[in-house]
Amino acid sequence: MCGIVGYIGPREAADFLVTGLRRLEYRGYDSAGVATITPEGEFAVVKTTGRIDRLAAQLAQTPVHGHIGIGHTRWATHGAPSDVNAHPHLGGDAALAVVHNGVIENFESLKQRLQAEGYSFRSATDTEVIAQLIDSCLKRQELAADMAAVDYQPLVAVVREALSQLQGTYGLAILFRRWPEVIIAARLGSPLVVGIGSDEHFVASDASPLAGFTDKIVYLADHELAVVTADNLRVIHRDQGCVHHDVHVLDFQAGDIAKGGYAHYMLKEIFEQPESIENVMRGRLDHDAATSKFGGFNLTPQQLRTANRIIMTGCGTSWHAGLVGEYQIESLARLPVEVEYASELRYRNPPLDNNTLVFAITQSGETADTLAALREMKRKGCPTLGICNVVGSTIAQETDGGFYLRAGPEVGVASTKAFTSQCTLLAMLALYFGRLRHLSFAAGMRIIEQLKALPEHVRESLACNDQVQRIAEKYAHCNNFLYLGRQFNFPTALEGALKLKEISYIHAEGYPAAEMKHGPIALVDAQTPSVFLLPHGQVYGKVISNLQEIKARGGPVIAVVCRGDDEASKLADDVIEIPAVEEFLQPVVTVIPLQLLAYHIAVARGCDVDKPRNLAKSVTVE
Ligand code: GLU
Repeated sequence: MCGIVGYIGPREAADFLVTGLRRLEYRGYDSAGVATITPEGEFAVVKTTGRIDRLAAQLAQTPVHGHIGIGHTRWATHGAPSDVNAHPHLGGDAALAVVHNGVIENFESLKQRLQAEGYSFRSATDTEVIAQLIDSCLKRQELAADMAAVDYQPLVAVVREALSQLQGTYGLAILFRRWPEVIIAARLGSPLVVGIGSDEHFVASDASPLAGFTDKIVYLADHELAVVTADNLRVIHRDQGCVHHDVHVLDFQAGDIAKGGYAHYMLKEIFEQPESIENVMRGRLDHDAATSKFGGFNLTPQQLRTANRIIMTGCGTSWHAGLVGEYQIESLARLPVEVEYASELRYRNPPLDNNTLVFAITQSGETADTLAALREMKRKGCPTLGICNVVGSTIAQETDGGFYLRAGPEVGVASTKAFTSQCTLLAMLALYFGRLRHLSFAAGMRIIEQLKALPEHVRESLACNDQVQRIAEKYAHCNNFLYLGRQFNFPTALEGALKLKEISYIHAEGYPAAEMKHGPIALVDAQTPSVFLLPHGQVYGKVISNLQEIKARGGPVIAVVCRGDDEASKLADDVIEIPAVEEFLQPVVTVIPLQLLAYHIAVARGCDVDKPRNLAKSVTVE
């Protein structure tokens, strides 16, 4: 949620800040701003509600100069989205400027104390309290103007004194008017990275702003603070003092996050799925042992063999992937799986035995609820494993082991390729656990062959795009949809409904097809289409009966069926054909037309597909 950027070096800071903020737009935001220290030694601040384009237009009218600056996209938690609440916030008599991601829980009591000291507040944010608090700590010290000689130790001490009083979470970048050659960045609970260039440094919430500027990146950890000058970076840990920082080399290009000729990131990402599914499997299928293999378990086969229960946790689309995993692992490995909303699990107290494994599923690796649930399970002594896409993210760092999705940057707020990669990875885990337990070599080989054919099946599935677009235009005026499927396709129905809700703002409900009789069937009328997931499988005939029940009540039916299915085609009003695959892999193939349907309906209704209202890509608040 929200994004931070910072720059120090020979360039005009604002050029990088605006480019970087655009790259962070996918995280979701409601306002944006930048601050630089001008060559005259004053702060220049421009901030506004709305899109980065609006900020860029204002900057074109009122350019801010300087070789040091910070920028921010805000997703309001304290105080409405407004120009005055947008970051950066100034502290004292414009002595310092702060951008902040996160929430300060004790801001109210700090504010009262600062007000008693004589500070007044312009905004309703918790962030301005940080700015004024640092100023108050600063005023109590007599710091020399030239601190480079002492490595900014006194300034660091001031910031640390202020941070020690904060309760809550923060990613911070701070500028000081008297020290226009240093940025202080700090992290507790909100992601922050530093990019290393030649005689320049970059600060950002994640690596995407850095692509094309530098490939060298340092991930800050919780309780770390970075002292960043043009030619030097020092990382200081709250308890350990100055610490060594590993420099990671990135392997993605600026082009990886451009739209590549597609009208929207979401469409581009939908069409990337044959490749992203190929990538999640690369090197992880073991033909010799007829199983899958993973480098990141960090548990022995013996420990994995004795696991007798799996808890999967996540939010939104990742939670749906967990449900797919439940069906896959229970059917292939006969291992009990429970899928819990992370926001519930974090405050529940489920009985756990010694052999329960916990999987945290998340695209961003920063989802606040998933992180909190993971920490709670870890505290209770369960081995924890992460399934996430963003390398070096907090969840990737905090789990005992885990697996990257390798789906590449997902920019569209509505997740698509991350979901299918999660489902594919979970199918491989089902194979792995199955082979540890009762699956034969021959059965393992069959599953490997089915997995290997999956990217091609997804490619074939994408061929329905034009057909789906026509259907979308036909139904785009409807204000209610039902999505119905059974067994492996029940989670897909939930995911299809979620996609439609997220980007077209249409009310949609996903349901097990038979369960629909116990309530949602009351919604059925000529203006309420039902999307049926009807690939061949053990419950095909049962779902056909459910379809008849909807037809009998005058509801239009859109059916997703296997190619050449005449029976369903006769009953449905509109048919979308997909290739036939094994049941445990069906969600990966059946979700494709549902992603496209949501996409084309949203476009037909004129919605902002990549940045739907009220949503954020990376939900880093509770
Ligand atoms: N809590 C801060 C605010 O409401 C920061 C929110 C964010 O992370 O964007 O301004």
